[in-house]
Amino acid sequence: MLRNDQLAQWDRENFFHPSTHLAQHARGETQTRVIKSASGSYIEDREGRKMLDAFAGLYCVNVGYGRQEIAEAIGDQAKELAYYHSYVGHGTEASITLSKMILDRAPANMSKVYFGLSGSDANETNIKLIWYYNNILGRPEKKRIISRWRGYHGSGLVTGSLTGLKLFHKKFDLPVEQVIHTQAPYYFRRDDLNQSEEEFVAHCVAELEALIEREGADTIAAFIGEPVLGTGGIVPPPAGYWPAIQAVLKKHDILLVADEVVTGFGRLGSMFGADHYGLEADIITIAKGLTSAYAPLSGSIISEKLWKVLEQGTDENGPIGHGWTYSAHPIGAAAGVANLKLLDDLKLIQNASSVGAYLNTSMKEALGDHANVGDIRGEGMLCAVEFVEDRQDRKFFEASQKIGAQLSATLLSQDSVIARAMPQGDILGFAPPFCLGREEADIIVASTARAVKTVLG
Ligand code: PMP
Repeated sequence: MLRNDQLAQWDRENFFHPSTHLAQHARGETQTRVIKSASGSYIEDREGRKMLDAFAGLYCVNVGYGRQEIAEAIGDQAKELAYYHSYVGHGTEASITLSKMILDRAPANMSKVYFGLSGSDANETNIKLIWYYNNILGRPEKKRIISRWRGYHGSGLVTGSLTGLKLFHKKFDLPVEQVIHTQAPYYFRRDDLNQSEEEFVAHCVAELEALIEREGADTIAAFIGEPVLGTGGIVPPPAGYWPAIQAVLKKHDILLVADEVVTGFGRLGSMFGADHYGLEADIITIAKGLTSAYAPLSGSIISEKLWKVLEQGTDENGPIGHGWTYSAHPIGAAAGVANLKLLDDLKLIQNASSVGAYLNTSMKEALGDHANVGDIRGEGMLCAVEFVEDRQDRKFFEASQKIGAQLSATLLSQDSVIARAMPQGDILGFAPPFCLGREEADIIVASTARAVKTVLG
């Protein structure tokens, strides 16, 4: 077996890690962490250290690690048929079955699913289909896409532009001109502290209206949003936000893309965020929870309204000029079928709902009164704790203090619990697997309280 120091050296010399400080890592200032195995809610590294993964990888291993049913489905598929493409009407039992299983679970207005590999490529597909749609309808000017600051939709050219985090734009010449941003419904970070939630929602809606007015509704094709803001801080929307936004979009004939890469397949305790908030989306983006990350697979679920126009487009222009070698890859599809079955058979979405509520309540009980805790929020199996220097006047810590990063590092070093320091602000994010037990939720909360005491007193 290779020694750990050998692997670390090869890693530094050869491996270009995503979302990593390249220079620091190459110099060996950040650690190489080699994860070896995993089971349930725990992962284990090569040194035999077991860690409670309270972020389920990147909030994707929803059914938990080590599920033999999915591993066997992948193995069986690989042995029988590792690959065939899905161009010109080809498919496999797994890909066709999975498309039906998805549509059986999706909101009633949905009609077809296009398969990709990642959340990013699914959102790229969405934008292309929306442009195609408006071209077929004879409105070539209606192309711009509105997304929200702090939204996360991927890191491709258009999707990195949709992502409303400056780090994803800086020095990449993004955002592209077709993408414009509006405010996220992040009540805790509102500018006017005297605003009620209701007033804040009205303010977000007015800002959107003004943006549409300024740019012209005939230039705006779609609005994209995560039902619950994820990477931007794990922020459930205030009551009334989605119905009010949807009403504005309908008025201006602007499509709604619900990016459910995180929320799809149960993270909020409902099958989709669209069900959870009563949204009528035109496209739903899915990825992570579709296979619980046992294999890379994503999808764009397309409404009947869009589908009718896309069909018409191909009657006029020939086959759709969009497709990838690995669209509907049989191994991913087999993983998806087994994963969705497991969610049902083990009632994991119900568990996400009840244990998620318990986690959120316990976190509030343990930390709600701490002088540096500004906000504790969550929905389903999502929870976030936001830290401030002074909770009375909501004064944030200086970014250079890196309080969020210190907290997550302490949580890991003291109690081997993994929470994510969210990329903007001092926010600890929790998104455990749906199979989390109450005892594990207790460990997460007690360890977090201990890390907070160590770092902040
Ligand atoms: N949309 C959302 C809401 C996401 O959270 C993510 C990934 N975190 C993506 C899209 C992009 O997915 P991927 O990293 O698979 O490209």
